[in-house]
Amino acid sequence: MTEKIYLTDAYAKEFEAVIVEKNGNALVLDRTVFYPTGGGQPCDTGTVTCNGIAYNVVETKKDGERVIHITDREADAKPGDKIHGAIDWDKRYMHMKLHTAIHLLDAVMEKRKAGSITGGQIYDDRARVDFDLPEMNREAAAKILEDTQKVIDEGRKVYPKILKKEEALGIENLSRTEPGRRLLESMEEVRVIVIEGFDMQMDGGTHVSNTKEVGKLVLAKFENKGSHNKRIEIALG
Ligand SMILES: [Zn+2]
Repeated sequence: MTEKIYLTDAYAKEFEAVIVEKNGNALVLDRTVFYPTGGGQPCDTGTVTCNGIAYNVVETKKDGERVIHITDREADAKPGDKIHGAIDWDKRYMHMKLHTAIHLLDAVMEKRKAGSITGGQIYDDRARVDFDLPEMNREAAAKILEDTQKVIDEGRKVYPKILKKEEALGIENLSRTEPGRRLLESMEEVRVIVIEGFDMQMDGGTHVSNTKEVGKLVLAKFENKGSHNKRIEIALG
């Protein structure tokens, strides 16, 4: 089990930890700020320094309750050794801004009963969002972005919160995907991201603490993928 610092403090950039397992160039630590790939958010990269030597962390992934850090070469270290870790903050901060932007976009769509998001993926410089929305065209997409921008500019607080299952099940649309709803049924406690006075979604990712930090939303691409499926790409100006 790895303590996941990023779940409670998305702004933690560096940390101290102890190696609990080492398999070749895979390291498991007792705690980490490295976000592992999941939920449409890419993993963090960065460095881990051990016994005075710095190693690049090229990938971070989840394995059950453990977080595995893949280094560019095998570390000269053993379980019990202390490390200092640091993530590539600029990249992670962009992921946070884009992740919050996707939640806002999704909430705007939900409130307009305009349709629903069927998939999403964050990249290092943009995010892709897929909708099931027959009447969506480029103009409609631009209008949704405009409405989303208004909420961004309102400077609403964004924060994680833990809900008990009973409470979570009573909230409509806490998860907007089918796998998410199934997951919700299986958990005792649920982590949600609250956008104050606007939205609440089940989520395991990292977010900014105020919508203002997202900045300026840009419609980078609109694609008609069929009668129902539309895809947009957003970037930040
Ligand atoms: Zn999310």
